[in-house]
Amino acid sequence: MEEKLSFEYAPTPESRALVTIKPKYGHFIGGKFVAGSKHFPTINPATEEVLSQISLAGKADVDAAVKAARKAYTTTWSKMSGKERGKYLFRIARIMQERSREFAVLETLDNGKPIRESRDVDVPLAAAHFFYHAGWADKLEYAGLGTTPKAHGVAGQIIPWNFPLLMLAWKVAPALAAGNTVVLKPAETTSLTALLFAEVCQQAELPAGVVNIVTGDGSTGALIVNHPGIDKIAFTGSTEVGKIIARAVAPTNKSVTLELGGKAANIIFDDAAIDESVEGIVNGIFFNQGHVCCAGSRLILQESIADEVLEKLKNRMAKIRVGDPMDKNTDLGAINSKEQLLKIRELSAVGDSEGAQRWSAHCDLPDKGFWFAPTIFTGVTQAHRIAREEIFGPVLSVLTFRTPQEAIDKANNTPFGLSAGIWSEKGSKVLWASQQLRAGVIWANTFNKFDPTSPFGGYKESGWGREGGRHGLSAYLKGVSHE
Ligand code: ADP
Repeated sequence: MEEKLSFEYAPTPESRALVTIKPKYGHFIGGKFVAGSKHFPTINPATEEVLSQISLAGKADVDAAVKAARKAYTTTWSKMSGKERGKYLFRIARIMQERSREFAVLETLDNGKPIRESRDVDVPLAAAHFFYHAGWADKLEYAGLGTTPKAHGVAGQIIPWNFPLLMLAWKVAPALAAGNTVVLKPAETTSLTALLFAEVCQQAELPAGVVNIVTGDGSTGALIVNHPGIDKIAFTGSTEVGKIIARAVAPTNKSVTLELGGKAANIIFDDAAIDESVEGIVNGIFFNQGHVCCAGSRLILQESIADEVLEKLKNRMAKIRVGDPMDKNTDLGAINSKEQLLKIRELSAVGDSEGAQRWSAHCDLPDKGFWFAPTIFTGVTQAHRIAREEIFGPVLSVLTFRTPQEAIDKANNTPFGLSAGIWSEKGSKVLWASQQLRAGVIWANTFNKFDPTSPFGGYKESGWGREGGRHGLSAYLKGVSHE
Protein backbone atom coordinates (compact mmCIF):
# COMPACT_ATOMS: atom_id res chain seq x y z
CA MET A 1 0.00 0.00 0.00
CA GLU A 2 1.25 3.47 -0.83
CA GLU A 3 1.22 5.82 2.09
CA LYS A 4 -0.37 9.20 1.55
CA LEU A 5 0.77 12.25 3.42
CA SER A 6 -1.96 13.28 5.82
CA PHE A 7 -1.38 17.01 5.48
CA GLU A 8 -0.93 19.52 2.69
CA TYR A 9 1.97 21.88 2.38
CA ALA A 10 1.04 25.51 1.91
CA PRO A 11 2.65 26.96 -1.21
CA THR A 12 5.93 28.73 -0.44
CA PRO A 13 6.88 30.49 -3.63
CA GLU A 14 10.16 32.38 -3.95
CA SER A 15 9.66 35.96 -5.05
CA ARG A 16 10.08 36.61 -8.72
CA ALA A 17 10.47 40.31 -8.01
CA LEU A 18 14.15 39.62 -7.28
CA VAL A 19 14.99 39.65 -10.98
CA THR A 20 14.56 42.08 -13.83
CA ILE A 21 14.32 40.38 -17.18
CA LYS A 22 14.73 42.60 -20.21
CA PRO A 23 12.34 42.03 -23.12
CA LYS A 24 15.29 41.49 -25.46
CA TYR A 25 19.00 40.71 -25.13
CA GLY A 26 22.05 41.13 -27.33
CA HIS A 27 25.55 39.73 -26.93
CA PHE A 28 28.31 40.69 -24.51
CA ILE A 29 31.36 41.56 -26.59
CA GLY A 30 34.43 43.59 -25.63
CA GLY A 31 32.94 44.48 -22.24
CA LYS A 32 29.73 45.90 -23.70
CA PHE A 33 26.25 44.67 -24.45
CA VAL A 34 25.76 44.90 -28.19
CA ALA A 35 22.50 44.47 -30.07
CA GLY A 36 21.92 41.24 -31.96
CA SER A 37 20.10 40.96 -35.25
CA LYS A 38 17.97 37.81 -35.26
CA HIS A 39 16.12 36.78 -32.10
CA PHE A 40 14.39 33.72 -30.70
CA PRO A 41 12.27 33.37 -27.53
CA THR A 42 13.41 31.82 -24.28
CA ILE A 43 10.58 30.39 -22.22
CA ASN A 44 9.86 29.28 -18.69
CA PRO A 45 9.42 25.51 -19.15
CA ALA A 46 7.13 25.32 -16.12
CA THR A 47 4.56 27.70 -17.61
CA GLU A 48 5.51 28.11 -21.30
CA GLU A 49 5.56 31.88 -20.68
CA VAL A 50 7.96 33.75 -22.96
CA LEU A 51 10.55 35.32 -20.69
CA SER A 52 12.61 37.23 -23.23
CA GLN A 53 14.02 37.33 -26.75
CA ILE A 54 17.56 36.01 -27.14
CA SER A 55 19.92 36.91 -30.00
CA LEU A 56 21.11 34.32 -32.45
CA ALA A 57 24.76 35.09 -33.10
CA GLY A 58 25.95 34.75 -36.67
CA LYS A 59 29.39 34.90 -38.22
CA ALA A 60 29.88 38.65 -37.73
CA ASP A 61 29.02 38.42 -34.01
CA VAL A 62 31.31 35.44 -33.41
CA ASP A 63 34.10 37.17 -35.35
CA ALA A 64 33.68 40.29 -33.21
CA ALA A 65 33.73 38.22 -30.00
CA VAL A 66 36.86 36.32 -31.03
CA LYS A 67 38.55 39.55 -32.05
CA ALA A 68 37.70 41.17 -28.70
CA ALA A 69 38.98 38.10 -26.84
CA ARG A 70 42.24 38.10 -28.83
CA LYS A 71 42.80 41.78 -28.22
CA ALA A 72 42.15 41.39 -24.49
CA TYR A 73 44.51 38.42 -24.40
CA THR A 74 47.43 40.14 -26.14
CA THR A 75 47.09 43.61 -24.68
CA THR A 76 45.89 42.96 -21.13
CA TRP A 77 45.25 39.52 -19.74
CA SER A 78 48.46 37.77 -20.82
CA LYS A 79 50.50 40.70 -19.49
CA MET A 80 48.83 40.73 -16.10
CA SER A 81 50.34 38.83 -13.16
CA GLY A 82 48.52 35.81 -11.80
CA LYS A 83 48.02 37.67 -8.55
CA GLU A 84 46.12 40.44 -10.36
CA ARG A 85 44.05 37.96 -12.36
CA GLY A 86 43.21 36.21 -9.12
CA LYS A 87 41.81 39.42 -7.66
CA TYR A 88 39.28 39.65 -10.48
CA LEU A 89 38.25 36.04 -9.94
CA PHE A 90 37.76 36.64 -6.22
CA ARG A 91 35.73 39.72 -7.03
CA ILE A 92 33.50 37.80 -9.45
CA ALA A 93 33.01 35.06 -6.85
CA ARG A 94 31.99 37.53 -4.18
CA ILE A 95 29.56 39.37 -6.46
CA MET A 96 27.99 36.04 -7.44
CA GLN A 97 27.46 35.33 -3.77
CA GLU A 98 26.02 38.77 -3.16
CA ARG A 99 23.63 38.35 -6.08
CA SER A 100 22.99 34.66 -5.41
CA ARG A 101 19.22 34.97 -4.90
CA GLU A 102 18.89 36.82 -8.18
CA PHE A 103 20.89 34.13 -9.96
CA ALA A 104 18.88 31.33 -8.33
CA VAL A 105 15.51 32.82 -9.28
CA LEU A 106 16.59 33.54 -12.85
CA GLU A 107 18.03 30.02 -13.25
CA THR A 108 14.83 28.44 -11.99
CA LEU A 109 12.62 30.58 -14.24
CA ASP A 110 14.65 29.85 -17.36
CA ASN A 111 15.59 26.23 -16.70
CA GLY A 112 12.68 24.76 -14.71
CA LYS A 113 14.81 23.30 -11.93
CA PRO A 114 13.51 23.62 -8.33
CA ILE A 115 14.53 26.83 -6.58
CA ARG A 116 15.86 24.69 -3.72
CA GLU A 117 18.45 23.21 -6.11
CA SER A 118 19.43 26.42 -7.90
CA ARG A 119 19.69 28.18 -4.53
CA ASP A 120 21.52 25.42 -2.63
CA VAL A 121 23.51 23.66 -5.35
CA ASP A 122 24.00 25.50 -8.65
CA VAL A 123 24.74 29.03 -7.45
CA PRO A 124 26.91 28.23 -4.38
CA LEU A 125 28.93 25.72 -6.42
CA ALA A 126 29.37 28.23 -9.25
CA ALA A 127 30.75 30.79 -6.79
CA ALA A 128 32.93 28.07 -5.23
CA HIS A 129 34.49 27.39 -8.65
CA PHE A 130 35.51 31.03 -8.94
CA PHE A 131 36.89 31.09 -5.38
CA TYR A 132 38.82 27.87 -5.95
CA HIS A 133 40.34 28.99 -9.25
CA ALA A 134 41.08 32.46 -7.90
CA GLY A 135 43.42 30.67 -5.53
CA TRP A 136 45.25 28.97 -8.41
CA ALA A 137 45.80 32.09 -10.53
CA ASP A 138 48.99 33.14 -8.72
CA LYS A 139 50.21 29.60 -8.01
CA LEU A 140 50.32 28.06 -11.48
CA GLU A 141 54.09 27.59 -11.26
CA TYR A 142 53.60 25.40 -8.19
CA ALA A 143 50.76 23.28 -9.57
CA GLY A 144 53.08 20.57 -10.85
CA LEU A 145 52.11 21.48 -14.41
CA GLY A 146 55.53 22.70 -15.55
CA THR A 147 57.67 25.58 -14.36
CA THR A 148 56.55 28.06 -17.01
CA PRO A 149 52.84 27.45 -17.47
CA LYS A 150 51.38 29.21 -20.52
CA ALA A 151 47.78 29.85 -21.44
CA HIS A 152 46.42 28.69 -24.81
CA GLY A 153 45.12 32.16 -25.70
CA VAL A 154 41.44 32.36 -26.67
CA ALA A 155 39.15 29.60 -25.40
CA GLY A 156 35.83 28.86 -27.13
CA GLN A 157 33.38 27.36 -24.65
CA ILE A 158 30.02 25.77 -25.38
CA ILE A 159 27.75 24.68 -22.58
CA PRO A 160 24.45 22.81 -22.12
CA TRP A 161 21.14 23.71 -20.49
CA ASN A 162 21.06 21.38 -17.49
CA PHE A 163 23.29 23.46 -15.16
CA PRO A 164 23.58 26.74 -17.08
CA LEU A 165 25.40 28.92 -14.56
CA LEU A 166 27.38 26.08 -13.01
CA MET A 167 28.67 24.88 -16.38
CA LEU A 168 29.64 28.47 -17.18
CA ALA A 169 31.64 28.58 -13.94
CA TRP A 170 33.29 25.20 -14.70
CA LYS A 171 34.44 26.68 -18.00
CA VAL A 172 35.18 30.35 -17.33
CA ALA A 173 36.90 30.11 -13.92
CA PRO A 174 39.78 27.77 -14.88
CA ALA A 175 40.21 29.47 -18.26
CA LEU A 176 40.70 32.89 -16.66
CA ALA A 177 42.82 31.54 -13.80
CA ALA A 178 45.19 29.97 -16.33
CA GLY A 179 45.37 33.25 -18.26
CA ASN A 180 43.08 32.62 -21.24
CA THR A 181 40.35 34.89 -22.49
CA VAL A 182 37.02 33.37 -23.50
CA VAL A 183 34.14 33.34 -25.95
CA LEU A 184 31.30 31.42 -24.33
CA LYS A 185 27.99 30.28 -25.75
CA PRO A 186 25.21 29.19 -23.39
CA ALA A 187 22.58 26.70 -24.57
CA GLU A 188 19.70 28.14 -26.56
CA THR A 189 17.03 27.38 -23.93
CA THR A 190 18.98 28.79 -20.97
CA SER A 191 20.91 31.96 -21.80
CA LEU A 192 19.64 34.27 -19.08
CA THR A 193 22.04 33.53 -16.22
CA ALA A 194 25.02 33.77 -18.60
CA LEU A 195 23.79 37.23 -19.57
CA LEU A 196 23.44 38.14 -15.89
CA PHE A 197 26.97 36.86 -15.42
CA ALA A 198 28.07 39.33 -18.11
CA GLU A 199 26.71 42.09 -15.85
CA VAL A 200 28.80 40.65 -13.02
CA CYS A 201 31.89 40.90 -15.23
CA GLN A 202 31.10 44.58 -15.77
CA GLN A 203 30.48 45.09 -12.07
CA ALA A 204 33.82 43.44 -11.25
CA GLU A 205 35.48 45.76 -13.79
CA LEU A 206 36.97 42.79 -15.56
CA PRO A 207 39.04 44.19 -18.44
CA ALA A 208 36.97 44.45 -21.63
CA GLY A 209 37.08 41.38 -23.86
CA VAL A 210 38.37 38.91 -21.26
CA VAL A 211 34.91 37.31 -21.16
CA ASN A 212 32.66 37.50 -24.22
CA ILE A 213 29.25 35.86 -24.32
CA VAL A 214 27.43 35.16 -27.55
CA THR A 215 24.04 33.50 -27.53
CA GLY A 216 22.56 31.22 -30.15
CA ASP A 217 21.97 27.63 -31.15
CA GLY A 218 24.10 24.85 -32.62
CA SER A 219 24.93 26.98 -35.66
CA THR A 220 26.57 29.57 -33.38
CA GLY A 221 28.36 26.74 -31.55
CA ALA A 222 29.70 25.45 -34.86
CA LEU A 223 30.97 28.93 -35.77
CA ILE A 224 32.95 28.99 -32.51
CA VAL A 225 34.31 25.48 -33.00
CA ASN A 226 35.46 26.22 -36.54
CA HIS A 227 36.80 29.70 -35.92
CA PRO A 228 40.49 29.94 -36.80
CA GLY A 229 41.07 32.55 -34.09
CA ILE A 230 40.29 30.12 -31.28
CA ASP A 231 43.03 28.08 -29.63
CA LYS A 232 41.09 25.81 -27.33
CA ILE A 233 37.60 24.35 -27.36
CA ALA A 234 35.80 23.23 -24.22
CA PHE A 235 32.44 21.59 -24.75
CA THR A 236 29.83 20.03 -22.49
CA GLY A 237 26.83 18.44 -24.16
CA SER A 238 25.67 15.42 -26.06
CA THR A 239 28.00 12.68 -27.33
CA GLU A 240 26.54 13.23 -30.79
CA VAL A 241 27.67 16.88 -30.93
CA GLY A 242 30.92 15.96 -29.15
CA LYS A 243 31.76 13.66 -32.06
CA ILE A 244 31.06 16.44 -34.57
CA ILE A 245 33.38 18.74 -32.63
CA ALA A 246 36.11 16.09 -32.37
CA ARG A 247 36.01 15.68 -36.16
CA ALA A 248 36.05 19.44 -36.73
CA VAL A 249 39.11 20.08 -34.55
CA ALA A 250 41.06 16.95 -35.53
CA PRO A 251 42.89 18.58 -38.47
CA THR A 252 43.62 21.79 -36.51
CA ASN A 253 45.98 22.84 -33.73
CA LYS A 254 43.09 23.43 -31.36
CA SER A 255 43.24 21.79 -28.00
CA VAL A 256 39.93 20.25 -26.91
CA THR A 257 38.08 18.92 -23.88
CA LEU A 258 34.72 17.19 -24.22
CA GLU A 259 32.38 16.39 -21.38
CA LEU A 260 29.65 14.23 -22.88
CA GLY A 261 26.95 11.75 -21.98
CA GLY A 262 26.70 9.02 -19.40
CA LYS A 263 24.68 6.01 -18.30
CA ALA A 264 25.95 5.56 -14.78
CA ALA A 265 25.52 2.37 -12.81
CA ASN A 266 24.41 2.80 -9.23
CA ILE A 267 25.27 -0.56 -7.65
CA ILE A 268 23.59 -1.62 -4.41
CA PHE A 269 25.19 -4.62 -2.70
CA ASP A 270 23.21 -6.74 -0.26
CA ASP A 271 25.21 -5.47 2.72
CA ALA A 272 24.38 -1.81 2.00
CA ALA A 273 22.40 0.36 4.39
CA ILE A 274 19.05 0.09 2.63
CA ASP A 275 17.37 3.34 3.67
CA GLU A 276 20.46 5.39 2.83
CA SER A 277 20.76 3.58 -0.50
CA VAL A 278 17.15 4.46 -1.34
CA GLU A 279 17.95 8.13 -0.70
CA GLY A 280 21.03 7.74 -2.88
CA ILE A 281 19.02 6.18 -5.71
CA VAL A 282 16.49 9.04 -5.56
CA ASN A 283 19.23 11.66 -5.49
CA GLY A 284 21.09 9.82 -8.25
CA ILE A 285 18.28 9.85 -10.80
CA PHE A 286 15.73 12.46 -9.73
CA PHE A 287 18.09 15.32 -8.85
CA ASN A 288 17.65 18.07 -11.47
CA GLN A 289 14.86 16.07 -13.20
CA GLY A 290 17.50 13.52 -14.20
CA HIS A 291 19.01 16.13 -16.54
CA VAL A 292 22.44 15.17 -15.30
CA CYS A 293 25.15 13.59 -17.46
CA CYS A 294 26.45 11.65 -14.44
CA ALA A 295 22.93 10.63 -13.24
CA GLY A 296 22.65 7.17 -11.70
CA SER A 297 20.30 6.09 -14.47
CA ARG A 298 20.98 2.34 -14.21
CA LEU A 299 20.20 0.84 -10.82
CA ILE A 300 22.15 -2.40 -10.47
CA LEU A 301 20.60 -4.17 -7.55
CA GLN A 302 21.68 -7.37 -5.79
CA GLU A 303 18.88 -9.86 -6.35
CA SER A 304 18.54 -10.90 -2.69
CA ILE A 305 17.54 -7.37 -1.63
CA ALA A 306 15.79 -6.29 -4.83
CA ASP A 307 12.19 -6.65 -3.59
CA GLU A 308 12.85 -4.80 -0.36
CA VAL A 309 14.72 -1.95 -2.07
CA LEU A 310 12.12 -1.56 -4.81
CA GLU A 311 9.26 -1.44 -2.33
CA LYS A 312 11.02 1.23 -0.28
CA LEU A 313 11.99 3.10 -3.43
CA LYS A 314 8.39 3.22 -4.67
CA ASN A 315 7.23 4.45 -1.25
CA ARG A 316 9.87 7.15 -1.34
CA MET A 317 9.05 8.12 -4.94
CA ALA A 318 5.41 8.58 -3.99
CA LYS A 319 6.57 11.39 -1.70
CA ILE A 320 8.57 13.30 -4.30
CA ARG A 321 6.88 16.66 -4.79
CA VAL A 322 6.61 17.47 -8.47
CA GLY A 323 5.46 20.91 -9.56
CA ASP A 324 6.11 24.64 -9.45
CA PRO A 325 9.91 25.03 -9.50
CA MET A 326 9.62 28.37 -7.70
CA ASP A 327 8.01 26.66 -4.70
CA LYS A 328 10.63 26.02 -2.01
CA ASN A 329 9.05 22.63 -1.22
CA THR A 330 9.34 21.29 -4.76
CA ASP A 331 11.66 18.33 -5.31
CA LEU A 332 11.23 17.77 -9.04
CA GLY A 333 10.66 20.65 -11.42
CA ALA A 334 9.87 21.00 -15.10
CA ILE A 335 11.54 19.22 -17.99
CA ASN A 336 13.71 21.84 -19.67
CA SER A 337 12.07 21.86 -23.09
CA LYS A 338 9.33 20.31 -25.15
CA GLU A 339 11.97 18.69 -27.32
CA GLN A 340 13.57 17.01 -24.29
CA LEU A 341 10.18 15.89 -23.00
CA LEU A 342 9.48 14.22 -26.34
CA LYS A 343 12.83 12.40 -26.17
CA ILE A 344 12.06 11.14 -22.66
CA ARG A 345 8.59 9.99 -23.73
CA GLU A 346 9.96 8.30 -26.83
CA LEU A 347 12.64 6.29 -25.01
CA SER A 348 10.21 5.39 -22.23
CA ALA A 349 7.80 4.07 -24.86
CA VAL A 350 10.66 1.97 -26.24
CA GLY A 351 11.10 0.60 -22.70
CA ASP A 352 7.44 -0.49 -22.73
CA SER A 353 7.66 -2.05 -26.16
CA GLU A 354 10.83 -3.94 -25.31
CA GLY A 355 9.01 -5.59 -22.40
CA ALA A 356 10.28 -3.71 -19.33
CA GLN A 357 7.71 -2.89 -16.63
CA ARG A 358 7.02 0.80 -16.05
CA TRP A 359 6.02 2.23 -12.68
CA SER A 360 5.42 5.90 -11.99
CA ALA A 361 4.55 7.62 -8.78
CA HIS A 362 1.08 9.08 -8.88
CA CYS A 363 1.30 12.84 -9.10
CA ASP A 364 -0.87 15.61 -10.44
CA LEU A 365 1.13 17.29 -13.14
CA PRO A 366 0.41 20.93 -13.98
CA ASP A 367 -1.61 21.56 -17.16
CA LYS A 368 0.87 23.93 -18.71
CA GLY A 369 4.59 23.40 -19.11
CA PHE A 370 6.68 20.25 -19.63
CA TRP A 371 6.44 17.53 -17.02
CA PHE A 372 7.33 13.90 -16.53
CA ALA A 373 6.48 11.92 -13.38
CA PRO A 374 9.35 10.10 -11.61
CA THR A 375 9.46 6.68 -13.25
CA ILE A 376 11.23 3.34 -12.88
CA PHE A 377 11.46 0.43 -15.25
CA THR A 378 12.02 -3.02 -13.79
CA GLY A 379 12.77 -6.19 -15.70
CA VAL A 380 15.34 -4.33 -17.79
CA THR A 381 18.02 -6.34 -19.56
CA GLN A 382 21.36 -5.15 -20.87
CA ALA A 383 20.06 -5.33 -24.43
CA HIS A 384 17.23 -2.87 -23.80
CA ARG A 385 17.71 0.57 -25.24
CA ILE A 386 16.69 2.09 -21.90
CA ALA A 387 19.72 0.32 -20.39
CA ARG A 388 22.08 1.58 -23.08
CA GLU A 389 20.98 5.06 -24.13
CA GLU A 390 20.93 8.22 -22.11
CA ILE A 391 17.32 9.24 -21.37
CA PHE A 392 18.33 12.47 -19.60
CA GLY A 393 15.13 12.59 -17.60
CA PRO A 394 13.60 11.25 -14.36
CA VAL A 395 13.57 7.64 -15.57
CA LEU A 396 15.47 4.83 -13.87
CA SER A 397 16.26 1.44 -15.42
CA VAL A 398 16.57 -1.37 -12.88
CA LEU A 399 18.78 -4.42 -13.48
CA THR A 400 19.69 -7.11 -10.96
CA PHE A 401 22.79 -9.22 -10.24
CA ARG A 402 23.78 -12.20 -8.11
CA THR A 403 27.58 -11.97 -7.76
CA PRO A 404 29.81 -8.91 -7.37
CA GLN A 405 31.58 -9.73 -10.64
CA GLU A 406 28.25 -9.79 -12.46
CA ALA A 407 27.51 -6.31 -11.08
CA ILE A 408 30.82 -5.01 -12.42
CA ASP A 409 30.33 -6.66 -15.83
CA LYS A 410 26.86 -5.13 -16.17
CA ALA A 411 28.04 -1.73 -14.95
CA ASN A 412 30.89 -1.65 -17.48
CA ASN A 413 28.74 -2.91 -20.34
CA THR A 414 28.09 0.55 -21.76
CA PRO A 415 29.66 2.82 -24.35
CA PHE A 416 29.90 5.51 -21.64
CA GLY A 417 32.09 5.78 -18.55
CA LEU A 418 31.36 8.99 -16.73
CA SER A 419 30.35 8.02 -13.21
CA ALA A 420 29.24 5.17 -10.97
CA GLY A 421 27.95 4.62 -7.46
CA ILE A 422 28.72 1.80 -5.04
CA TRP A 423 26.65 1.10 -1.94
CA SER A 424 28.14 -1.32 0.58
CA GLU A 425 29.02 -1.29 4.25
CA LYS A 426 32.21 -3.21 3.50
CA GLY A 427 35.19 -1.00 2.71
CA SER A 428 37.17 -3.72 0.93
CA LYS A 429 34.25 -4.36 -1.41
CA VAL A 430 33.93 -0.66 -2.18
CA LEU A 431 37.65 -0.43 -3.01
CA TRP A 432 37.58 -3.61 -5.10
CA ALA A 433 34.55 -2.47 -7.07
CA SER A 434 35.90 1.03 -7.63
CA GLN A 435 39.06 -0.44 -9.13
CA GLN A 436 37.02 -2.57 -11.55
CA LEU A 437 34.62 0.12 -12.71
CA ARG A 438 35.53 2.01 -15.87
CA ALA A 439 34.16 5.38 -14.85
CA GLY A 440 35.81 8.74 -14.28
CA VAL A 441 33.97 9.56 -11.06
CA ILE A 442 32.99 6.92 -8.52
CA TRP A 443 30.93 7.69 -5.46
CA ALA A 444 30.77 5.32 -2.50
CA ASN A 445 27.70 5.41 -0.28
CA THR A 446 26.69 8.73 -1.77
CA PHE A 447 25.87 10.11 -5.23
CA ASN A 448 26.00 13.35 -7.21
CA LYS A 449 28.46 15.08 -4.91
CA PHE A 450 30.45 17.84 -6.61
CA ASP A 451 33.37 19.94 -5.52
CA PRO A 452 35.61 22.34 -7.46
CA THR A 453 38.73 20.62 -6.13
CA SER A 454 37.73 17.25 -7.56
CA PRO A 455 38.37 16.39 -11.22
CA PHE A 456 35.27 15.37 -13.19
CA GLY A 457 35.18 13.64 -16.55
CA GLY A 458 34.77 10.32 -18.25
CA TYR A 459 36.10 7.37 -20.21
CA LYS A 460 35.03 6.14 -23.64
CA GLU A 461 32.10 8.05 -25.17
CA SER A 462 31.75 10.19 -22.05
CA GLY A 463 34.49 12.47 -23.27
CA TRP A 464 38.07 13.66 -23.18
CA GLY A 465 39.82 15.40 -20.33
CA ARG A 466 38.80 16.49 -16.87
CA GLU A 467 37.25 19.59 -15.39
CA GLY A 468 37.83 20.75 -11.83
CA GLY A 469 40.84 20.33 -9.61
CA ARG A 470 44.42 20.47 -10.85
CA HIS A 471 43.52 18.16 -13.76
CA GLY A 472 40.90 20.61 -15.02
CA LEU A 473 43.33 23.49 -14.73
CA SER A 474 45.88 21.67 -16.86
CA ALA A 475 43.42 21.63 -19.79
CA TYR A 476 43.75 25.42 -19.96
CA LEU A 477 47.55 25.39 -20.12
CA LYS A 478 49.66 24.66 -23.19
CA GLY A 479 51.42 21.36 -23.45
CA VAL A 480 50.12 19.81 -20.26
CA SER A 481 47.51 17.18 -20.51
CA HIS A 482 46.16 14.48 -18.26
CA GLU A 483 44.68 12.49 -21.12
P1 ADP B 1 21.53 18.48 -25.72
O1 ADP B 1 21.22 17.33 -26.62
O2 ADP B 1 21.70 18.09 -24.32
O3 ADP B 1 20.69 19.70 -25.93
P2 ADP B 1 23.64 19.46 -27.33
O4 ADP B 1 24.93 18.74 -27.44
O5 ADP B 1 22.73 19.47 -28.50
O6 ADP B 1 22.98 18.90 -26.05
O7 ADP B 1 23.87 20.96 -26.91
C1 ADP B 1 24.90 21.38 -26.03
C2 ADP B 1 25.46 22.70 -26.53
O8 ADP B 1 26.06 22.50 -27.81
C3 ADP B 1 24.41 23.78 -26.75
O9 ADP B 1 24.97 25.02 -26.36
C4 ADP B 1 24.16 23.73 -28.25
O10 ADP B 1 23.71 24.95 -28.78
C5 ADP B 1 25.56 23.42 -28.76
N1 ADP B 1 25.60 22.77 -30.09
C6 ADP B 1 24.66 22.03 -30.71
N2 ADP B 1 25.09 21.60 -31.92
C7 ADP B 1 26.36 22.07 -32.07
C8 ADP B 1 27.36 21.96 -33.08
N3 ADP B 1 27.15 21.26 -34.20
N4 ADP B 1 28.55 22.56 -32.88
C9 ADP B 1 28.80 23.24 -31.73
N5 ADP B 1 27.90 23.40 -30.75
C10 ADP B 1 26.70 22.82 -30.89
